[in-house]
Amino acid sequence: MPRSVSRNSIVSVLRALGRTYDWTALNRLSEKRRSPFRTLIATILSQRTRDEITYEAARRLFARFRTPEKLARARKSEILPLIRACGFYRVKADTIRRVARLLVERHGGRVPETMDELTALPGVGRKTAGCVLVYGFAKDAIPVDTHVHRISNRLGWLRTKTPGETEITLQKIVPRRFWQRVNDLLVSHGRTVCRPIGPRCGACSVERWCAKAGVGN
Ligand code: SF4
Repeated sequence: MPRSVSRNSIVSVLRALGRTYDWTALNRLSEKRRSPFRTLIATILSQRTRDEITYEAARRLFARFRTPEKLARARKSEILPLIRACGFYRVKADTIRRVARLLVERHGGRVPETMDELTALPGVGRKTAGCVLVYGFAKDAIPVDTHVHRISNRLGWLRTKTPGETEITLQKIVPRRFWQRVNDLLVSHGRTVCRPIGPRCGACSVERWCAKAGVGN
C-alpha cells in the first residue's frame, strides 16, 4: 500500500460508495434466493455480458433447470435459446453443462465452498470463484475484475499490474469486514462514474480520498 493511504481512508471510501449504490443485478439475483448453484451459473453467464441480459437469461434458465442434476441432463439445444442473448452463448452452454455434470459427479450435486475446488471447475477463474464465495455463500473474498483492479489503482490504494496482484494486496489492506462489499461497490462505481475512459471525477462521491493515479488532468 502506498505510504500515504490509511485504512481510515479506505473505509471512508467504501462507506461513501455504500451510501451511493444499490447492489448490482448479480447480487440481486443471489439476494433473492441465495443459492450457490444459481450464483455460480449466473456468474459464468455474466462474463462479457451486461447485468440486465444476465439477469433475464439466468431467470429463464433456472425456471427450466432448477438443480445441477437437471442442468447436467439438459441437451445443448434446450439451453441455447434460453441464454442466446449472452455473449459467447454457445461456449457458455457447453461450460455450464460440464460444470453441472462435475457438480453431480464430484461434489454430490452441491457447489464446493473453497477457492481451490471452485477454480478446478471449467470456466471458473478466481474472479468467478470469488463471486460464488461472496454472493453464493456469504463468505469473505474479494473478487477482482477490471473495475476493481482499475479503481483500486486510481484511488492510490495499491500499485499493481494484474488482477491477481490486486486481490492479494486488497486482502492485506481492506479490513475483513468490508471484503464482501468491495466487488459490488467498485463495479457499480466503475460502470457509472470511474469509467475506464473518461472518469467523471467532478461527480465522484469519493474524490476527496482519491489519488487519481494515472488519470489525466
Ligand atoms: S475521483 Fe476520479 S479517478 Fe478517483 S475514484 Fe472518483 S472518478 Fe475515479
